[in-house]
Amino acid sequence: MTATPSAATAVVGVIGDPVAHSLSPRLHNAAFRALGVDWVSVGFPVAAGSLPPALSGMAALGIRGLSVTMPHKSEAARLVTAPTPVAERLGAVNCVWPEARGIGGDNTDGDGFLAALARQASFDPGGRRCVVVGAGGAARAVVAALGDAGAEVVVVNRSPGPAQRAAALGGPAGRVGSAGDATTADLVVNATPLGMGPGDDLPLDPALVPAGALAVDLVYQPSPTAWLTGLRARGVVAVDGLGMLVHQAALQIERWTGLDAPVDAMWAAVRGAPGGGPERR
Ligand code: NAP
Repeated sequence: MTATPSAATAVVGVIGDPVAHSLSPRLHNAAFRALGVDWVSVGFPVAAGSLPPALSGMAALGIRGLSVTMPHKSEAARLVTAPTPVAERLGAVNCVWPEARGIGGDNTDGDGFLAALARQASFDPGGRRCVVVGAGGAARAVVAALGDAGAEVVVVNRSPGPAQRAAALGGPAGRVGSAGDATTADLVVNATPLGMGPGDDLPLDPALVPAGALAVDLVYQPSPTAWLTGLRARGVVAVDGLGMLVHQAALQIERWTGLDAPVDAMWAAVRGAPGGGPERR
């Protein structure tokens, strides 16, 4: 983003409800500043039911791309005309852009998660046992990405139906399991919202996680959660979900601009940034 947006400035944004506290514009604008391009990102509050006109408006207004967050990810997957294979498979889209004959849609959550694992912990999931707690949108993206990367993926969730559907995304080595599977895990992921609220239950007993394992809490506000604190007290390497947030946004920047995302600058924009509010993605 240059100093003052002008008539020539390319516009992107985030759509959702609410979006006022979204970190996405902060991440996108940090990238544009570092790249030295005349682009800007803003929040567009779009209520449930208003996604079709919002997507038509994107194309009509020449908006170059939108990050898509709650509550629109599933509906966006039905509305885009050119989904990527992963968006189609997950039935969820977190990133759209205008194309010559319609609207493209991608889901960068899974690849963002893998990129964060590599950057934060040099963790390669190939051949490793991974336990994912939760079976919602975030869990499904993580399970599919881990399965594609050659991991054995075990889904632990309170509701069996969503657990089975999520585990199916993990490929031949994907299965439904129980909390006890964590005792032999190389990686344990909290993909539930537990930890966002004060007094929330822990997603999984930290005592079940081996000291040599890696743990990722997709929750990043607050950070550290009580779960991360409990894990770290046991000597587990445990990181929050800010890395996934940064890397899924970086992949969106690359999609929209065709340029390599300046990940360091994006990290610097949100790590410990005052006013970095919660984002329900
Ligand atoms: P979601 O689609 O609503 O799914 C939530 C999952 O958590 C479901 O499987 C649900 O189980 C389970 N769950 C919810 N409350 C629970 C409770 N009290 N006890 C046990 N299980 C519970 O949510 P989501 O979009 O996947 O998001 C999950 C979390 O990931 C949120 O905190 C979100 O902010 C975070 N997230 C972070 C990033 C990032 O970039 N770091 C990206 C996406 C999401 P049932 O199936 O039984 O309902």
